[in-house]
Amino acid sequence: MGFSSALQSRAAHEALIVRQDAELRLMETMKRSIQMKAKCDKEYAISLTAVAQQGLKIDRADEMQGSLISKSWRSYMDELDHQAKQFKFNAEQLEVVCDKFTHLSQDKRKARKAYQEEHAKIAARLNHLTDEVVRKKSEYQKHLEGYKALRTRFEENYIKAPSRSGRKLDDVRDKYQKACRKLHLTHNEYVLSITEAIEVEKDFRNVLLPGLLEHQQSVQESFILLWRNILQEAAQYGDLTADKYKEIQKRIDTVIGNINPTEEYGEFTEKYKTSPTTPLLFQFDETLIQDIPGKLQSSTLTVDNLTVDWLRNRLQELEGAVRDCQEKQLKMIEHVNGGSPVANGSIISNGSNTSNGIQSNKDSLCRQSKDLNALRCQEKQKQKLVDMIKCALNEVGCEELPSGCDDDLTLEQNFIENGYNNEQQQRSNSTSSPGLGIMNELMRRGGVLTLLRGRGRHFKRKSTPQPATPMTRSRQGRFNKLQPRSQSLGSLSISLSTNRPLYEEEWFHGVLPREEVVRLLNNDGDFLVRETIRNEESQIVLSVCWNGHKHFIVQTTGEGNFRFEGPPFASIQELIMHQYHSELPVTVKSGAILRRPVCRERWELSNDDVVLLERIGRGNFGDVYKAKLKSTKLDVAVKTCRMTLPDEQKRKFLQEGRILKQYDHPNIVKLIGICVQKQPIMIVMELVLGGSLLTYLRKNSNGLTTRQQMGMCRDAAAGMRYLESKNCIHRDLAARNCLVDLEHSVKISDFGMSREEEEYIVSDGMKQIPVKWTAPEALNFGKYTSLCDVWSYGILMWEIFSKGDTPYSGMTNSRARERIDTGYRMPTPKSTPEEMYRLMLQCWAADAESRPHFDEIYNVVDALILRLDNSH
Ligand code: ADP
Repeated sequence: MGFSSALQSRAAHEALIVRQDAELRLMETMKRSIQMKAKCDKEYAISLTAVAQQGLKIDRADEMQGSLISKSWRSYMDELDHQAKQFKFNAEQLEVVCDKFTHLSQDKRKARKAYQEEHAKIAARLNHLTDEVVRKKSEYQKHLEGYKALRTRFEENYIKAPSRSGRKLDDVRDKYQKACRKLHLTHNEYVLSITEAIEVEKDFRNVLLPGLLEHQQSVQESFILLWRNILQEAAQYGDLTADKYKEIQKRIDTVIGNINPTEEYGEFTEKYKTSPTTPLLFQFDETLIQDIPGKLQSSTLTVDNLTVDWLRNRLQELEGAVRDCQEKQLKMIEHVNGGSPVANGSIISNGSNTSNGIQSNKDSLCRQSKDLNALRCQEKQKQKLVDMIKCALNEVGCEELPSGCDDDLTLEQNFIENGYNNEQQQRSNSTSSPGLGIMNELMRRGGVLTLLRGRGRHFKRKSTPQPATPMTRSRQGRFNKLQPRSQSLGSLSISLSTNRPLYEEEWFHGVLPREEVVRLLNNDGDFLVRETIRNEESQIVLSVCWNGHKHFIVQTTGEGNFRFEGPPFASIQELIMHQYHSELPVTVKSGAILRRPVCRERWELSNDDVVLLERIGRGNFGDVYKAKLKSTKLDVAVKTCRMTLPDEQKRKFLQEGRILKQYDHPNIVKLIGICVQKQPIMIVMELVLGGSLLTYLRKNSNGLTTRQQMGMCRDAAAGMRYLESKNCIHRDLAARNCLVDLEHSVKISDFGMSREEEEYIVSDGMKQIPVKWTAPEALNFGKYTSLCDVWSYGILMWEIFSKGDTPYSGMTNSRARERIDTGYRMPTPKSTPEEMYRLMLQCWAADAESRPHFDEIYNVVDALILRLDNSH
């Protein structure tokens, strides 16, 4: 429905006028707003230019040379300046738009006026005619009345006049005729004016008004079109998504995208690279104790009755702190593993897969691993102090005392004090070298061997000592498949040959570590004698199981005799014999009675049982020798532990022996025994003639066949399958830690880092981790399982097929770690069977659970070998 038919009424006409006025006002408002926007944009452009200029005031000095981030920033600011210019241009265009609005509103005003005038004009004619009709009608009425009156007068005169003539009648007739004529004329004029009015009204309604309205509609609509165009233009100049802005934004994105964290410091590090800083040296200032006689020794804790309580409290505190650190680490690891599964080296968080999400996950992963490392360091630092205090307390035998046994502590402190007094006595007598320990003192008097001999007396226990309980036997059996060299002496008489040096006594266990000693003493009354080195002095200790474990240091008297609380004896054997036969407590307060001597186990060899022949290798703790077992003439390999290493290291050294003791498999190097009777402590193993697999691969790279390489992989898998079945995590599987015999058979060796657990969380520092062989979850979270060994096995396979190449060659540990985390895997070594490389890749699956277990690996390799054999 258009204006022409719908808006004919007067009211509609008036509304149309009002509407046009409103439109004009709206147009005015828009114009003003756009003017304001143009102003705003101009000001914004000016501010943006200032921002860009401010941003460009960056340090152009050398410090940031080569920095991608600073380069990107500069380009970013340039783009911002472009953006400002674009804003300014658009603002100017908006001003042009405002001018257009001015013109449009002027034209619109004119059009409104024209409409109003035209409407008035056509309406005026109709009005005029209407008035005319009314006027004519009233004229008509007036003439009609005059006519009627004259007619009546004429009729009256006519009737009255006898002759129908006369002057008066003529006069009346004349007037009557004139009135009649006037009426008729008026009548005709009225008729004509009505007819004209009808015509004009018809035209007004059907032609003129619709024509005017139609025209007006088209005029107004054309204004709307122009109006819309102007608005579109205005919007266009304010469109921030316009191509120009998009291009700028794209360029900004690109320059920011050019920031590359891994390259940022390339030029900088290249310029400033220096060798790592030399460590700060913290050293005990020896001059402090130069003039102090007595027991204070540099870098050594002093344990005496004055400090023991303090040390124990400190130990408790530190142990608490260590536990605290461990708990925090576990929580952190649980949080990481529980919250978000690890895949491809990065954490996929719940639903967040935007690049920012991944980045923030990476950051949080980094942060967690940093926090974890900080906690590990803290724990390691505290643990070091714990170990130091424990070691010091251990050596005086008070660390293992159960609570409520402070009496024994006092006793042992008494011993220490006695010893100290004795020393002082000796010093004051000036008859012997001051400060020498028992062993040194014995040596001084003619050597350990002679002086530890007894006096030719045998002694037998009067009462029958308690037999070993099933528990004792089973415990011994558990750790040693080999039968004990001599049966437990529990039910036999204990014979102390006077001709035997102490270290040949079956119940003398040499420097057997304390953990092992404790393991051997199971029932009240079980005892053994051992040696401990404290402050580089040797001390002989009697260890007894009595309400826990107690360790008594044998005291030397000024005369060179040996005693506890009772009488002194000329030899340690006699002292022990006395304690055993008399059934008197070693000390009154401990109440400990000696009931059953515990003998060395089969694997506790004597140092003199082996003859070292030639050095065949160098290990972490000391040299490795080819040697001969005196008893069987068997060729063996002997790992020695440097005497100078601290006790803690010695304990670590023996860890390998403790683990190997339990295993028996053709692809695991066999333990024959450990020698802890005296220094250097040694581990005796089967001799594997080809030596280290890594050296072997490198030396024989030309002669090795694919079949032999696959055989090596199968051997290693067999050994590892066996270890996995025993819940042993090797943690350092690599070609350098495998041995090879002359038939190319591979044996897994070097169990220094192994742990017997299904899952092992590392709590000490990661310092010596073989990064390139270690699975990502172990590196990132310290979480070790057999599946980490599977990862290392993949690297071992790679070493075998690359004939001893270094993995990730040319990459530092941290670079390799970084690349692995982003999904990089080493390419296949030359001439590796495809299936073997596929197996390597499976072993290197980022998700540990997707890696094959050793059982499966063994079966795959075995099947491939079988297929190869059959094809020949
Ligand atoms: P560590 O564990 O102290 O680092 P290794 O086990 O690596 O010591 O031994 C060092 C080297 O000694 C080996 O690379 C190897 O050449 C040699 N070796 C070690 N054990 C044996 C053995 N049982 N038979 C033959 N050679 C061995």
